[in-house]
Amino acid sequence: MTQTSQRHGGPIRLTASSTTGLRPAKAGEITGGLWADRRRINREVSIPGGWNRLHQAGNFHNLELAAGRSTGDYVNDLPFLDSDVYKWLEAVGWAFADPALSSALADRLRQQLGETERLLRDAQQPDGYLDSHFQVRFPGERFVQLQWGHELYCAGHLIQAAVALHRTTGDLDLLEVARRVADLVVDTFGTEPGKVDGVCGHPEIETALVELYRETGAESYLERARYFVDRRGHGLLGEGRFGRHYWQDHVPVRDAPSVEGHAVRQLYLLAGVADVYMETGDASLLHPLERLWAEMVTSKTYLTGGIGAHHSDEAFGDPYELPNERSYCETCAAIASIMFSWRMLMITGESKYADLMERTLYNGFLAGLSLDGQRYIYANPLQVREGHMARGTDGDYQRVEWFHCACCPPNVMRTLASLQHYVLLSSEARAVLHQYMAGRYAASVAGGEVWMEVTTDYPWDDTVTIRITRAPAGRWELALRVPHWAQQPTLSVNGTAVDSGPTDGWWVVGREWNDGDEVVLVLPLEPRFTVADQRLDAARGAVAVEYGPLVYCLEAVDNPGHRLDDLTVDTAVAPEVVSVDGPLGGVAIIRTAGRVRPRAGASWWPYRPAGEPAGDEPGESVPLTGVPYYTWGNREPGAMRIWVPTA
Ligand SMILES: [Zn+2]
Repeated sequence: MTQTSQRHGGPIRLTASSTTGLRPAKAGEITGGLWADRRRINREVSIPGGWNRLHQAGNFHNLELAAGRSTGDYVNDLPFLDSDVYKWLEAVGWAFADPALSSALADRLRQQLGETERLLRDAQQPDGYLDSHFQVRFPGERFVQLQWGHELYCAGHLIQAAVALHRTTGDLDLLEVARRVADLVVDTFGTEPGKVDGVCGHPEIETALVELYRETGAESYLERARYFVDRRGHGLLGEGRFGRHYWQDHVPVRDAPSVEGHAVRQLYLLAGVADVYMETGDASLLHPLERLWAEMVTSKTYLTGGIGAHHSDEAFGDPYELPNERSYCETCAAIASIMFSWRMLMITGESKYADLMERTLYNGFLAGLSLDGQRYIYANPLQVREGHMARGTDGDYQRVEWFHCACCPPNVMRTLASLQHYVLLSSEARAVLHQYMAGRYAASVAGGEVWMEVTTDYPWDDTVTIRITRAPAGRWELALRVPHWAQQPTLSVNGTAVDSGPTDGWWVVGREWNDGDEVVLVLPLEPRFTVADQRLDAARGAVAVEYGPLVYCLEAVDNPGHRLDDLTVDTAVAPEVVSVDGPLGGVAIIRTAGRVRPRAGASWWPYRPAGEPAGDEPGESVPLTGVPYYTWGNREPGAMRIWVPTA
């Protein structure tokens, strides 16, 4: 990436009048470290593999049926298979902006894109309608099965794919298809006589329509997004299988006291509400957004950043109901949380949103993809027990190549492919570096464009070096996030220590900068024990090990000879990093002191009278070996746990 203007823009491109404190960076390129490696695998393995998987799974077949090119039945009993194609297309769109994309792969993706666009144009009906499930299985029926039909959800993903491709390549073909769908949605829905007054059972259209407004300037899209936000919560969807909470139709978002129901639905909705707030300035939406984010984080978020405690309805549980071995933590919910927090960070400029983004990226999100980029996991547990019975369902705890309900894989692809946009933000006064990924980034401040080069091996190394490669004239501020876990960080500018210290999670340096100025931030990395709120029963009496932004886990393969549920950790001995190059590649391995817990009082069943001695054998000492949670499940199957009881 050269320091010249190019087609730019990530998943959000604000209008000039947006109500935000911070705006997305102009450009970015991740050039090294953990995320560059993950993005390489995504680009070279996952995205190309997605084309094959979508063909094998029948997604393209269904669209060919809708286009009249093929005969047979709609494949799969789920109505939203088109959305997986669209999310894959969005990933392809972002991949085109990746300077590391090889010309051979770019050619292949262009050919696949062309084929897919021709297919979608053929499948689209004269008035713009496009949804293979309804065209094939319920011809003529439209927007009457809003509970489960997912028509607007699919339309939203089509819009996002078209916007991505338009931003990175100038492609107008898919944008034309998407606009015709969006125009039909605008014409169909509303409170006026003759229109359909309804909302989709699965939010997604809201955020997509706002982005289409940003891309095209057509205010009708923004107005309809606002309509969908306003009309939700009035019982238009009815009870359904799981009640109105499930699809957030039990209460209008402005009055909602807590996050409820299906986690992905809730957070896609809130991302869309945040988008509507940013573009309309409707102040009545801001406090609910802040309140609901806080409520989620206070009592409904796992240590990994994962969310969603219920398997049955993929939903939030009660406050502090966060079971480990039955955590749901859908990979898509982690992505939705990142989407929501990123918008809140832009709106407020508060570091806590970037902190949660980081935690979720490194743990709840990244665990959703195998290290080789070929297998995915849908529900991410914090514990897998000895003897775990694999049942071969989507909710099972091992990575598989694809799913019957394959929402997560292409969602991972589009997130990794656009990740460089989630690093730097800016306002008139300051450039705000909130994630630490080696690369080159550019943002606008009042005086002009700021370009910077970030060098770091974070999270394996504690030093982040930022070299200003182009500094606009005049005074402006560089704000660096200091994560909540960082103890005694240090900062220097051109070798001179800065002693101001961080405030509210930001270390801000304001001055007149020159090209070549160098800022060094050190976030000391020490493995640490973490305990949970006493109300979180599933983690009581236990600790987790964390290292920088990473949550660690024990895996059976690293702790042979004992059952994991017999092991305790000795917190009197500090955990230490013992290796940065093990079987999982260059990741930090952490060793802690532990013991094998004697099975005192073991009898014919797992209970004994209270007060009966639990045995005074201290148990055999044994070292415990932990690996980053995101790497779990990449070797032989076996037990795993994050929370380990204390001795
Ligand atoms: Zn999913």
